[in-house]
Amino acid sequence: MPTFFFRPVILAVLIFISFSSTAVEKTRSFEKTLNGVQSILYSVPIKARALLSDLEKVELNENHPLPLLVRYYLQKATVDILLNSPEQAVIAANRGIELAKTDPLLKAELYRLELRLSQAFIMQGDETSALQQLDALLAESETLSDPAVTAEILLVKGQAYKAQNEYDISMAALMSSLDAAKETDNDMLIERIASNLGSVLVQLNGFDKASVLLDQSYQFFRSRKMSFNQLLVKLDMAELARKQGDNKKALIEYKQALQIAQVLGDGSHRFRINLQIADLLLQAGDTKNMIRYLRATDNLRDRETIRYYISKYNHLKANEQLLNNNFQAAIDQVTPLIKDQETLSRLYRTELALYLVASKAYFGLEDYKNAYQTLLGYQDRFSTFSSDEQVDNLERQQMLFNLEKLKAENQNLSWNNVLHTLEIKTNEQQVEYLNVLVIAGISATILASLVAFGINRRRIRWGEIANTDSLTGLFNRRYFNSQLETMQKDMVSSNADVSCLLLDVDFFKRVNDTYGHPVGDKVLIGVAEMFRNNLRRDDICARVGGEEFMLLLPNSQLEQAAVIAEDLRLRISELSFHSEQGDQFGVTASFGVHPVSAKQSLSELYSDVDKLLYRAKQHGRNRVELPEGQIDGDTTTEAPEEALSMMQRSERFARQLRRLKFRFAQHFS
Ligand code: GH3
Ligand code: MG
Ligand code: MG
Repeated sequence: MPTFFFRPVILAVLIFISFSSTAVEKTRSFEKTLNGVQSILYSVPIKARALLSDLEKVELNENHPLPLLVRYYLQKATVDILLNSPEQAVIAANRGIELAKTDPLLKAELYRLELRLSQAFIMQGDETSALQQLDALLAESETLSDPAVTAEILLVKGQAYKAQNEYDISMAALMSSLDAAKETDNDMLIERIASNLGSVLVQLNGFDKASVLLDQSYQFFRSRKMSFNQLLVKLDMAELARKQGDNKKALIEYKQALQIAQVLGDGSHRFRINLQIADLLLQAGDTKNMIRYLRATDNLRDRETIRYYISKYNHLKANEQLLNNNFQAAIDQVTPLIKDQETLSRLYRTELALYLVASKAYFGLEDYKNAYQTLLGYQDRFSTFSSDEQVDNLERQQMLFNLEKLKAENQNLSWNNVLHTLEIKTNEQQVEYLNVLVIAGISATILASLVAFGINRRRIRWGEIANTDSLTGLFNRRYFNSQLETMQKDMVSSNADVSCLLLDVDFFKRVNDTYGHPVGDKVLIGVAEMFRNNLRRDDICARVGGEEFMLLLPNSQLEQAAVIAEDLRLRISELSFHSEQGDQFGVTASFGVHPVSAKQSLSELYSDVDKLLYRAKQHGRNRVELPEGQIDGDTTTEAPEEALSMMQRSERFARQLRRLKFRFAQHFS
């Protein structure tokens, strides 16, 4: 055979081989980079993003095998979520979904990509869409029966509910997630769920359990160099310290978080953390450093879209103007913001505080009329203010014990289950941790067993075993007592003011006699509901007797407590009830208000404040009584200006304004 015939064929074959081998090589290098990205995804996402964008420039093309391409888009979407770029994540996820849909073997990847879409929704504040999508996803993924995928979906579901302040359902979802994750040996996944559980428990004021879970997760993430998760846990630890009133510890935690965020190159977290630090420093009266940290947020401001942080920023900026005596500038900054807030139904603390800033600025300009009017605006808006997170303390406590909803979410839910899952891991690591957890879970465990024994489930309330009064859902006397003790211990070191309120519904016996006991019960429930809606986050309210309620108000001097009591008295008198025949009626209540001292026992305090309540009854009911000679702003010795914290100063300022207002009232009448 003539060789000239073969030559081109051989050549063609050779060319083909060399081409396909470079194609194979390219694919291999593509895959290798993806493996590299995977290993640093959670530790240095910013580097992962850089690697992926290099890939995009040179090696990303449609000739790579489908599974690798899908993996690329999944990583891209994940990294965009981690680095707070939801729009980018959506683009990557959608491209990945298109590809993954063409191959039934890529179902797990498909669900994970769709999960990224839900996460992006949550980041954009659209939890409702996220939840809809998650539920659909959960149903679809059942056919896959891959517990890791199920666990991840439930984990994101927990995060969506948390973003909506639905902490109890969030807990339920996370518990179910943990339940699913148990079936896998994915330590990392289990730990991510545990840290999310810790995070929700912080919000629910389940401090002991939260602290244990967060410490544990932090150690784990540190040992795995998962810096991003470390950062998230640090932030929760800071929040926990702050909620427990330990601002010093919170400051330390935030500073550590800031270091991690700097290493990660995470701008949006840096913005938020700098703000939190500035806020704490302002509260501590360290204005010099406050301004320093605030400066660090200025050029990151544009990245923020969440109202909570924007309002914090505005508040701090306005305070900076005040500190520099730029009163007019403060007014110019704050006035349009206040105007924008008029349509909002609930305000954050920092939004409400803008009124005080404006008032103070007018005061600085000696424009007392506007100072006074702004203060009136403040009082007006105060009623719509509930708390930083827009959920109050009592509601959280109730959520913590809300069995019905937990059950609705999943049949296998119980603390037992959670503890068991974590125990398995913990045994290998830290026996101490296990003990604490077991102790922490004892009350829940008892309850879980009761449920297991089939005792009428609907009527079991977590609260009966724990700290809640079963009729009203408020705390009971036992819990109140323990909180009083804790606060008294804190008072020794912090010098904080705590006030106590005791109130008793007037002529309640008459209500029972006229309308019947069940209607009387409804009145008590209505009064409790009013407390839930109007108390601050840290206030403790307990039902201590038939129609007697007791309140602890931390960080409240007697004078402020009197204002609160007056407000509550008015609100009770405005409540409207109906008899079974449809007759409308109202009730009133009498109040005693007394400061709490560090050494007083509950019975001493009770007797003191009860005397005042008795006096209120004697003087005609539907009124508030205080100890004599205790309130007189003009005669109290005031500390030197520099020793006062910003907080105290602004409180003193509000007091001055109240006096001013009084004079105005006299003047006008
Ligand atoms: P005042 O406090 O103004 O002196 O008059 P009062 O009618 O409230 O007097 P008193 O404190 O003696 O009456 C309290 C009544 O509250 C008596 C009791 O029947 C009723 N009571 C106690 N616990 C409950 C309860 O859980 N539900 C209902 N419906 N009534 C209760
Ligand atoms: Mg009474
Ligand atoms: Mg009574």
